[in-house]
Amino acid sequence: MATDLLFLRDAELRSFDASVAGVAGDRVDLDRTAFYPTGGGQPHDTGRLTWDGGSAAVVEVRKDAEGTWHRLEGAIPPAGARVHGEIDWDRRHALMRTHTALHVLCGVIWNEWSVPVTGGNMEPLSARMDFEFDPLPEGFGRIVEALVNAELAADRPIEVSFLPRSVALLDEDLIRTKVSLIPESVPEIRVVDIVGLDKQADGGTHVRSTAEVGRIRVVKTESKGKGNKRVRIEVLDA
Ligand SMILES: [Zn+2]
Repeated sequence: MATDLLFLRDAELRSFDASVAGVAGDRVDLDRTAFYPTGGGQPHDTGRLTWDGGSAAVVEVRKDAEGTWHRLEGAIPPAGARVHGEIDWDRRHALMRTHTALHVLCGVIWNEWSVPVTGGNMEPLSARMDFEFDPLPEGFGRIVEALVNAELAADRPIEVSFLPRSVALLDEDLIRTKVSLIPESVPEIRVVDIVGLDKQADGGTHVRSTAEVGRIRVVKTESKGKGNKRVRIEVLDA
């Protein structure tokens, strides 16, 4: 049975109860989890599992075809055990602010220059994202920082919904962000909508409104070759 990924419907969930569905060395698969596994550019959560007679730190979470594997340091609960999970909320919330900041950056750059994103990476409160600019516009760093911070201050709501694949494939905003590349085996598309700014098919966790991000600073812009320019940001309190 696939793990029920609780964060897809409730990104605010910090603790939960579950059963151990499988054990492989120092890793356990759970029947349900609020721990985000590394994927979609967002790093995994960390935290703690406790159960009758034991406890362990969750130091890594990865999902594969067999399950959602929580790598533990400490004791290992047996298969079938009831466990209580607590995620490290400081780390997760920092990642949520950072992930939302990157979607705002994508939306701003698309609206202003019609340039698509080509890749990215994030850590708590710092991130980089690559865009198809050639060359970067004059004064780009300063301009994009001001545009992003204006959108953050505008306190736009962020809505998560689930669309049937056939409906998502017809949505203009989702077409732009290449929803068609999602495997056909996925019947339902999760959509993260920063209302009025940016809409993407996305499996990550986000804050509830753009004001919750705070503000950003463009740390650096650099060329990574023809048609590939990198923007490095940090996320700060407003
Ligand atoms: Zn995303």
